[in-house]
Amino acid sequence: MTQPLPWQKDLWLDATALALQGRLGHALLLAGPAGVGKRSFARALAAFLLCEARSGYACGQCRSCQQLAVGNHPNALLLSREGLHGLAMTESGRHEQGLAHWLPKPDSAKRDIATDGVRRMIEMIALATHYQGARVVMFDPADSLNENSVNSLLKTIEEPPPGTHLLLVSERPQALKATLRSRCQRLRFSAPDEAAGLEWLQARKPQADAALLREACGAPLRALELADSDRSRSRDWAELLTGVLQLKQEPIAAAQRIGKDDAAAFLAWLLGWLTGTLKQALAGGGLLPPPELHRLMQEATDARRRLEGNANPQMLLEALLVLASRQARAQRRAT
Ligand SMILES: [Zn+2]
Repeated sequence: MTQPLPWQKDLWLDATALALQGRLGHALLLAGPAGVGKRSFARALAAFLLCEARSGYACGQCRSCQQLAVGNHPNALLLSREGLHGLAMTESGRHEQGLAHWLPKPDSAKRDIATDGVRRMIEMIALATHYQGARVVMFDPADSLNENSVNSLLKTIEEPPPGTHLLLVSERPQALKATLRSRCQRLRFSAPDEAAGLEWLQARKPQADAALLREACGAPLRALELADSDRSRSRDWAELLTGVLQLKQEPIAAAQRIGKDDAAAFLAWLLGWLTGTLKQALAGGGLLPPPELHRLMQEATDARRRLEGNANPQMLLEALLVLASRQARAQRRAT
């Protein structure tokens, strides 16, 4: 976490060189698409700016780095819709690790970064005096600062306490108030080339392929998220379907659990699953004999075609699962 991602080397060299020369902007706008590593970069840069023994990157060992790791560094803050927290070097989950300094009222809508949160942040960085005076605040996402919040912030951007760095992270920089955007030095993030993205991705998910990366528009962190969510969804579906075939799960309820929004994804997954199950059945195992599995595959293929022709997705799912349940029941009677 103290180093930038492999495809961010150039940006890193630029930003850290400016920092060492004392020319890094007080307000940086880290802009770019989702899943290319803006937050990861922001955390590595915060660690670098605060580190007591840096050399190229933050050391990861000093008192400052240790406090940052657990989110209780007094001069590293994270301002978001969820409140003002200590910035923590957590890879996923933005808020749960850092110390809470200010929280919005529990019944508030949390659509924006609240003005009270901005005020509290300004008080805190005005008081901060530890650690060579560097102070870092990350705004995530910066485009959720509302007009009042931006107005409260402008004076701090114009005349920041010494050593202050405001890191504004945004997927939608055009949604930032112009008064704020025009005062920021912009760092542009983009997706790496496919080979670099795939290398990083496969080091974490060996089964990931170029198709997955393309589905994520080339953004490796997004692809990683997709891989994780797909895997847990596939596991749920396999459990449901096995339940139906073992007559432990009622088919209409199973169809409702899958839901019409996921009908297309489910059918695609089902065909793959049936193919695997058919192989098992041909080898003498499986929950249904091969002819029954063939029939289910035909019905699933047909359902896919009808889904493209605007058929009711929930009814298609129900019909398929009712068929599977009926086959399983007949199978049980026969054996
Ligand atoms: Zn350090």
